[in-house]
Amino acid sequence: MKLSKILGAVCFLFALSAWSATPPTVFIWVDATSAPRKIFHAKLRIPATAGDFTLYYPKWIPGEHAPDGPVIDLAGLKFTASGKTLKWRRDLLDGFTLHVDVPTGATEVAAELDFLSPATFEGGFSAGSSATDKMAVISWNQVLLYPKGWKSDDLTYIASLKLPAGWKYGTPLPIDSTGADNSEIKFKPASLSTLVDSPVITGEYLKVVKLADDPLTEMDIAADSAAALAPPQEVWDHYKNLVEQANKLFGAHHYRDYHFLLSLSDHVAHFGLEHHESDDSRIDERDLVDETGRKATASLLPHEYVHSWNGKYRRPADLATPDYQQPMQDDLLWVYEGLTNYLGTVLTARSGLHSPDQERDDLALTAAALDHTPGRAWRNLQDTADAAPQLYFSPQAWHSWRRGTDFYDEDTLNWLWVDVIIRQQSKGAKSIDDFCHLFHGAPSTGPMVKPYTFDDVVSTLNQVVSYDWRGFWTERLTNHGPGAPLGGIEGSGWKLVYDETQSEMERGAEGSFHFVDGAFSIGLQLREDGTITDTIEGMPAALAGIGPGMKLIAVNGRHYSPEILREALKAGKGGSAPLELLVENTDYYKTYKLDYHGGERYPHLVRDDSKPDLLTEIYKAK
Ligand SMILES: [Zn+2]
Repeated sequence: MKLSKILGAVCFLFALSAWSATPPTVFIWVDATSAPRKIFHAKLRIPATAGDFTLYYPKWIPGEHAPDGPVIDLAGLKFTASGKTLKWRRDLLDGFTLHVDVPTGATEVAAELDFLSPATFEGGFSAGSSATDKMAVISWNQVLLYPKGWKSDDLTYIASLKLPAGWKYGTPLPIDSTGADNSEIKFKPASLSTLVDSPVITGEYLKVVKLADDPLTEMDIAADSAAALAPPQEVWDHYKNLVEQANKLFGAHHYRDYHFLLSLSDHVAHFGLEHHESDDSRIDERDLVDETGRKATASLLPHEYVHSWNGKYRRPADLATPDYQQPMQDDLLWVYEGLTNYLGTVLTARSGLHSPDQERDDLALTAAALDHTPGRAWRNLQDTADAAPQLYFSPQAWHSWRRGTDFYDEDTLNWLWVDVIIRQQSKGAKSIDDFCHLFHGAPSTGPMVKPYTFDDVVSTLNQVVSYDWRGFWTERLTNHGPGAPLGGIEGSGWKLVYDETQSEMERGAEGSFHFVDGAFSIGLQLREDGTITDTIEGMPAALAGIGPGMKLIAVNGRHYSPEILREALKAGKGGSAPLELLVENTDYYKTYKLDYHGGERYPHLVRDDSKPDLLTEIYKAK
């Protein structure tokens, strides 16, 4: 291992010295005027050397934790030098590497390419659906190539962008000048790292809402309709609180200014992707104006904003790679994503985006879902991070047995536990806020990366309060349960219980995400149309022979609907007759009899009066 690393470093240095000491400047022109057709055109001018000139299409996209650059959607490639078309060939061992045959005497290659944005609704992070008739998000990694031999920090890109007529835009990328009607934006020179880190949101309906001065913090929101941009005033007030509370939590910031780039559309991929000075977050068109959607998606922006500190500024050393070609290692995602998720929930409550009751109901759902994850018997939490490049793309079927990217939710429970231990050990004098001040805080800086290791996390925790943090995290990452880690909830003065009434948050999540949650009663999760997305091993539906991919047709002889299923569960409570489910499986129909008489079961947190109420304290605005 060591030897190959040294050889690699020597070869890299040789490649650098053999070329030129000055990193090249690349010019890029992107034409987004055909965004509604979902095709983007780009031209680049790249300084080059004669012979086999190697160019890369970005592969490991920061924040996506996987080699998922959308190279399949790269089309229309053409290379020329001095007007002459050049031959090129893809590398046989790596589909993201292109070899261009550059003639003697040529010092520059002109490249043309198209990016084919998904034409129908598809997920897949920033490579998912990103353009509609009214708006688009442009991620620069999709429309560029970069030369081999340089760090992305050292390459300079000078970008310009043409938008559809009349479309407005928002971006953290510093602007040099704009043409008439914003038709062509010329950006200031930026490193390739900054360019890829600075998407542009654009659309016919775009609203800018200022949240804070010094540094300027704003929301740039593009929507598929003007109506979607008119939520009640309290929404903007809560986002202003978010900025204030986050800055109090960390005590400093690491951006020049910050832009929440928010897409409101039913036709773009739904996700959030973090950047140093912005986030690319996408929710349903009416998720700001409708209260239920607003509550179901409230924690998205807090999560992505926290990443500016945790993930972008402080980044696991194994994820701080020099370019987009070197593989990332995801073993510390329990800090990168797990701590972010916990702090996101804390800020969602502190900002008022959720009431303390709503945040607790959300936490109860998280804990209950993890408590019904039998897959932990074979896959520990560490392996959910190590296998993240694959798990991000795993199907919903068998989720509870396969496990997914559980380091988000399970580490929300674990970091709550850390917060509770800090509060207990310091007798209330300290909290996770003190860790954040030390780890992510002063002095305020522009965007920069300060890498860390497992040891750095342990030693900073020990600076806050002395404790066996290494032992704590080793156990949390490697244990096999059987249940979820509930020490944080219980230590904070609350207990996870189940009753027959759904919380407002669970009902809202079902409505917003179109599923029915029978996980905690019969171990069955299904879509509103009856398609079974998962069955939980060891629970009544699985024991009766039902599996994911089948479709629920009828319940006790009556055509299925979510209400019919709920009523049957309720009516069967305490009885002796089996619950009969008629299920379709690969064109065959069969009735399965479930020996279940427990009624509906939904999770909640209830107060444990024998302990101080730390959770309410944690959720209080500072
Ligand atoms: Zn995240």
